[in-house]
Amino acid sequence: MTADAGAWSASRRLLGRLRDIMAAPGEVQERLDKVASLIAGNMVAEVCSVYVMRAGEVLELFATEGLKPDAVHKTRLRVGEGIIGDIAAHARPLALSDASAHPNFAYRPETGEEAYHSLMGVPILRGGRVIGVLAIQNRTRRGYTEEEVETLQTIAMVLAELVSGGELVGAEELRPTDGIALMPLRLTGVAFNRGIATGTAVLHEPRVVVHRFVAEDPDAELARLAQATEGMHSAIDDLIAASDVAHSGEHREVLETYRLIAEDRGWLRRISEAIHGGLTAEAAVQRAQNDTRARMSKIKDSYLRERLHDFEDLTNRLLQHLTASNGEQTGNTTNTGSSRNKTPDDIVLVARNMGPAELLDYDRQKLRAVLLEEGATHSHVAIIARALEIPVVGRIEGLTDRIEPLDPIIVDGDNATVFIRPGEDVQQTFVKSIDAARRRRASYAALRDKPARTRDGAEISLMLNAGLLFDVQQLEDTGAEGIGLDRTEIPFMVRPDFPGLAEQTEIYATVLDEAGGRPVVFRTLDVGGDKVLPYFARSREENPAMGWRAIRIALDRPAILRRQLRAFVAAAMGRDLNVMFPMIAEVAEFDAARRILDLELDRVGRGKAPKSVAVGAMLEVPSLTWQLPALLQRVDFLSIGSNDLLQFLFASDRNNPRTADRYDALSPPVLALLRDIVRRCEKGQVSLTLCGEIAGRPIEAMTLIGLGIRRMSMAPVSIGPVKAMILSLDQERLAKYLSQLENSAEHSLRPRLRNFAKDHGVDI
Ligand code: PEP
Ligand code: MG
Repeated sequence: MTADAGAWSASRRLLGRLRDIMAAPGEVQERLDKVASLIAGNMVAEVCSVYVMRAGEVLELFATEGLKPDAVHKTRLRVGEGIIGDIAAHARPLALSDASAHPNFAYRPETGEEAYHSLMGVPILRGGRVIGVLAIQNRTRRGYTEEEVETLQTIAMVLAELVSGGELVGAEELRPTDGIALMPLRLTGVAFNRGIATGTAVLHEPRVVVHRFVAEDPDAELARLAQATEGMHSAIDDLIAASDVAHSGEHREVLETYRLIAEDRGWLRRISEAIHGGLTAEAAVQRAQNDTRARMSKIKDSYLRERLHDFEDLTNRLLQHLTASNGEQTGNTTNTGSSRNKTPDDIVLVARNMGPAELLDYDRQKLRAVLLEEGATHSHVAIIARALEIPVVGRIEGLTDRIEPLDPIIVDGDNATVFIRPGEDVQQTFVKSIDAARRRRASYAALRDKPARTRDGAEISLMLNAGLLFDVQQLEDTGAEGIGLDRTEIPFMVRPDFPGLAEQTEIYATVLDEAGGRPVVFRTLDVGGDKVLPYFARSREENPAMGWRAIRIALDRPAILRRQLRAFVAAAMGRDLNVMFPMIAEVAEFDAARRILDLELDRVGRGKAPKSVAVGAMLEVPSLTWQLPALLQRVDFLSIGSNDLLQFLFASDRNNPRTADRYDALSPPVLALLRDIVRRCEKGQVSLTLCGEIAGRPIEAMTLIGLGIRRMSMAPVSIGPVKAMILSLDQERLAKYLSQLENSAEHSLRPRLRNFAKDHGVDI
């Protein structure tokens, strides 16, 4: 027998005995005591204790082998208190050879535990929630092996059945205290996608509850696992093939990555090993899920956390397949908690987190919003939701514990707020704002084909900022003239690795195809700062916004830039190519980047070259304004990136809530700077665009036009409101007014400009 086989059969024997004790008739306390002594004996420990979570987040000692019997039902620890409380608070195992040295050690004299030095404890988990802690202790200072930790985790999983069965403590005690109040509730999180929606809560998870943990015949369980895995793979393939969202390159990539994870050998191996150790296939899958959650809690990197969430998604799918294949006959599982079977027509999907494919499982016609307890703005599920145009609010603390299936919900994605079981007054307010938003959207749609011309005849060119293919597809709906800023780093951010030349060429060619002959300005990679590529290692920086980013990386790693430029050139064969370099701080940087582009243009074969090439720079670093005379002789166009330009102008971090709004874009220094840039570009006859966020806000956009800016690039949703403003503006009158303010010493000119708009009927 191999070492593995020996360990597996020992584990099967232990689980079998555990099951027999748990299933035996008699008092539950008696069974729990026997369990404690069985575990102590098996793990060669002097102590084994079971703590159960009670109302108010208190862990109570329910059974012990080795500690003083009087302590049972007396010793209580709050979550977070002592080592046991620490294990519960972090839902992770701890193995300590000298427990008293742990900073969280809390001595309880009534237990007599001073005699024991080493301690290993694991959380007892049910549906991802901690319902107790199982711990062993030894007299000697001994280390515990990883295998021992795993064995105790497996035991804790089987034990969870007894703890949550309602015999030890009522099921309601295992719920968080503020869990199911039927009062209206207002929760806030982080807006991953804007918009307002109302609907009915559909809980995405938990969907499957495992009832049978211990299996006699590992081979039969392995066969069931293989069958379910195969079923899951082909279901994912079908999903990829069938989903029209997936046809657009980027979303397809997301799903393909997901499939790769589904075929992950390490994950499947861990599940098989747990089956060999005596678990049913369902219990083994859940065991792997518990591990994943424990690992996830330690990971800081948001991209990696997202990948682990994809594993969770797959776990649920696999459980579904196991349930579908055999569960009903064997009674291994039941489907509860999910309200999917009776889905309402207006789904507000509620999940701890979810994978992209899971979202696509729901009927898109019915989906109104997504609420997540965790998640990140650039998570795959948020990207897909954006493509579906539904609001997403994430990082809502305690979300899944506070919502009951079919609760009425209002999602205010613009303010990252969620109203659960809202009162009549709140509902009325939102019905009104949803109506108003709908009317506004309809009125903007009616402006689609109107030229963006001010009342006194100035033509303004409105362009889109894009990052996803979906944004490019908005050209049609918004009537925008083209893509003024394609943030090419976005597709890089949602991938597991650097896209190669062929992939990049395809991405850019698709953008040009979708734009259908309208101009597209590709910005070369602007990574660094807050835009992180998980596969591109960089050292920590004190000031990442002012650190190694954008063109600085490109010039230091010219191979990356060359590959991207080569892909632009190939994608634009026979068409117009516009390339823009980000974060240029001095003319020499522009020259260096331009030289690399020229090399790529020189090497392209005849007949394969773009029809025309225009090259521009972004003006985001103030130093460049003092080199404008030299720069303007070299560029075909200039684009002001006001997001960065303003943070550097004011030395005021755009991502720091304390400083982001400290200075106003509508202030004398900004207006003076912009006026100067406009004049120089006019003199140099160089086309000027502004593509920062301010272009998309009507009052700011109004001011930009008053300063002489004629081309602005913005998010698709801003086109309508900005065009409505333009149609009602007399820009010459505004220009005169602005010139009167030139020497102002005020902090902000916003109140004055607001009054101007009001007095002159400008629709801001
Ligand atoms: C800007 O800085 O204004 C800009 C458009 O670039 P980003 O927001 O991508 O940094
Ligand atoms: Mg920028």
